[in-house]
Amino acid sequence: MDLNFTPEELAFRDEVRAFLKAGVPDDLRAKIKGGKRLVKDDYFRWHKALSEQGWLGSNWPTEFGGPGWTPVQKHIFEEECYAYGAPRTLPFGVNMVAPVIMKFGSQAQKDYYLPRILDLTDWWCQGYSEPGSGSDLASLRTSAVREGDHYIVNGQKTWTTLGQYADKIFCLVRTNPNAAKPQEGISFLLIDMETPGVTVRPIILLEGEHEVNEVWFDNVKVPVENLVGEENKGWTYAKYLLTHERTGIANVGSSKAALLHLKAIARDQVKNGRPLIEDPLFRNRIAKVEIDLMAHEMTNLRVLAEVQSGGAPGLESSILKIRGTEIRQEITDLARRAIGPYAIPFQSEALEEGFNGEPVGPDYAAPIAKQYFNMRKLSIYGGSNEIQKNIIAKAGLGL
Ligand SMILES: Cc1cc2nc3c(=O)[nH]c(=O)nc-3n(C[C@H](O)[C@H](O)[C@H](O)COP(=O)(O)OP(=O)(O)OC[C@H]3O[C@@H](n4cnc5c(N)ncnc54)[C@H](O)[C@@H]3O)c2cc1C
Repeated sequence: MDLNFTPEELAFRDEVRAFLKAGVPDDLRAKIKGGKRLVKDDYFRWHKALSEQGWLGSNWPTEFGGPGWTPVQKHIFEEECYAYGAPRTLPFGVNMVAPVIMKFGSQAQKDYYLPRILDLTDWWCQGYSEPGSGSDLASLRTSAVREGDHYIVNGQKTWTTLGQYADKIFCLVRTNPNAAKPQEGISFLLIDMETPGVTVRPIILLEGEHEVNEVWFDNVKVPVENLVGEENKGWTYAKYLLTHERTGIANVGSSKAALLHLKAIARDQVKNGRPLIEDPLFRNRIAKVEIDLMAHEMTNLRVLAEVQSGGAPGLESSILKIRGTEIRQEITDLARRAIGPYAIPFQSEALEEGFNGEPVGPDYAAPIAKQYFNMRKLSIYGGSNEIQKNIIAKAGLGL
């Protein structure tokens, strides 16, 4: 197995670098590099640049308008995006609901929804989790009762990421409360957020940001043609979607960019009259996480090489999820430690673009605590790390 990039892959990397230079506006890059707060327009500009380049559906087959990249090309693209300072590509439309529509949707759904994802007409959010139904997702209670040509939906979703920006939500709903197993009574519905009876309420997280929401459904009328696939088969589609949710879960590109930033901070901060990066204890912790990251990157490349030659990742995706999120969290923890007391004040206004007030500590300090708290989510969503460990224990170790 050769883990080095081929000349073609290196040429592709140059192409990506040239695109990023031309396609990411300077002000947007400065926001990312400075850890500023992003708004919908920031995501929109980035997605539009990708869309115009034909790269938004980077995981899509060419027949639906994707670029037909190999797994290694996708990895290179992701890594270069983080290194350059591009915003993340929001997965809900392009990497979550789209693959489900492609595989299980009707022709009319494919013709209607897929182009609207690529041209940014529709922004999607994910309506899976409910209070009490996260890891135990099959216990979800939001109901959809068929009345003529419509379903009447009632219930509540929670943790809906960026639901405040979304035009549409894909939802798991219970269509048969009497099924023998809870998984057998679930369906997959596409719902317009403008439908009367849909209410979005913000949840403000530990770091003070509005990233997630509750979404309530009060007698929401959803046309029957918005059902994907068959009624009561939604669990199969939901699981298929989750395999796509875990695409890029290794977090290699994001961790490499964050590690570089951490080193820059540790060079700037001073301990006992010397740069912090020369402190033996702190330097050891940076070295440890860097070695972990290098080993993790090799594992990721091995998995990608396997996928490229026709294999499918199994337990490896659980391993990549656990290690990737642990490493990313360790880097934010070290950054928080590096700035010491400057991590204590919460200066929300310093995260706004164009802030010219008095920063507490160096310019780079304001986003550090926010990132530390925000990154706690990594080990929770996309299937919590404990659940991934259960999967490895059962399917891998036979325990
Ligand atoms: C920032 C953020 C964004 C999110 N965005 C979305 C979104 O857009 N759409 C969406 O649908 N959902 C979203 N989620 C929800 C996410 O998928 C759930 O939080 C996750 O599945 C865990 O469910 P829970 O929060 O109900 O915790 P619980 O399932 O109640 O788990 C609580 C704790 O118990 C542990 N645990 C649970 N069961 C077991 C077990 N069997 N063995 C061992 N340990 C166990 C868990 O690992 C966790 O540590 C988001 C969550 C967060 C934090």
